[in-house]
Amino acid sequence: MTDPREFIHRLPKAELHLHIEGSLEPEMMFALARKNGIALPYASVEAVRAAYDFSDLQSFLDLYYAGAAVLRTERDFYELTAAYLRRAIADEVRHAELFFDPQTHTARGVPLAAVFAGIAGALRQARAEHGFSGRMILCFLRHLSEAEAFATLDAALPLRAEYAGLWIGVGLDSGELGNPPEKFAGVFARARDLGLRVVAHAGEEGPPAYVRGALDALEAERIDHGVRAEEDPALLRRLVETQTPLTVCPLSNLKLRVVKDLREHNLARLLRAGLCVTLNSDDPAYFGGYLNANFIAAAEALALSRDELAALARNSFRASFVSEAERRPWLDEIDALAAR
Ligand SMILES: [Zn+2]
Repeated sequence: MTDPREFIHRLPKAELHLHIEGSLEPEMMFALARKNGIALPYASVEAVRAAYDFSDLQSFLDLYYAGAAVLRTERDFYELTAAYLRRAIADEVRHAELFFDPQTHTARGVPLAAVFAGIAGALRQARAEHGFSGRMILCFLRHLSEAEAFATLDAALPLRAEYAGLWIGVGLDSGELGNPPEKFAGVFARARDLGLRVVAHAGEEGPPAYVRGALDALEAERIDHGVRAEEDPALLRRLVETQTPLTVCPLSNLKLRVVKDLREHNLARLLRAGLCVTLNSDDPAYFGGYLNANFIAAAEALALSRDELAALARNSFRASFVSEAERRPWLDEIDALAAR
């Protein structure tokens, strides 16, 4: 198998940094808006796509929240998740830990139970029909207060038994600058006490100090993005030593202008320096591609070798929150493919 695209396609992969609301394609946005009687600030699917010319994280978030407003019912969340899972399965993704943003929905009067039930329904169906392994990570919106994050966690806890084995952790997303990790130290401590896994976005637009904050104040087990950690050599050494995974999203970084050109992206440098780097699609409907598209774009821009592509796939399972026994068959499959 000499074609790198074929190799990428066939690699079993896990996706660990995917906001389910960010997989809302414009066609579905329009269909749900029509069904739910919601007026969109765009005349057509083409007009939405034309608006995807972002200048930074905030310009994207403005469109992202407008789009998410069409999601109203359990069925809407089910359809959204099922559509992502069809694409993921086609990309040979075997395991995904999906981020979802309850506060974006509860603020509009959508019941939290409908959000959980819709996402979980699609994950359970994919498990039954395709053996797909899925989990859910509830993210707090960092531009809101810690008190609001506590209220969201408290509202979700009564659902925990119903979604045991699916809802496994909490994360932190949305506008990074001006909202350092320390702001959420209390609610993350409570989540850890409850036995939830913890991850956090840091070092996307924010400085390396935010990565340190996520590690020290939140005790984050993975850093989402984290690419700006490279500016702090001592921090990089620490990430190599602890093997704390970074969930890197190349097409997102390009689209939100974290890098001007993918050839300037540091993911290959970070990988070659010994960090546990994984590749992910972040908000694929908005950033121009799902997981394999991110692998292909990164491989071509950075001349990633087959061994490096296999290492990225292995890292995705190593960095996931599954047991050693669950991860073993996927790693064996990667080894077999890489040995050919
Ligand atoms: Zn993200």
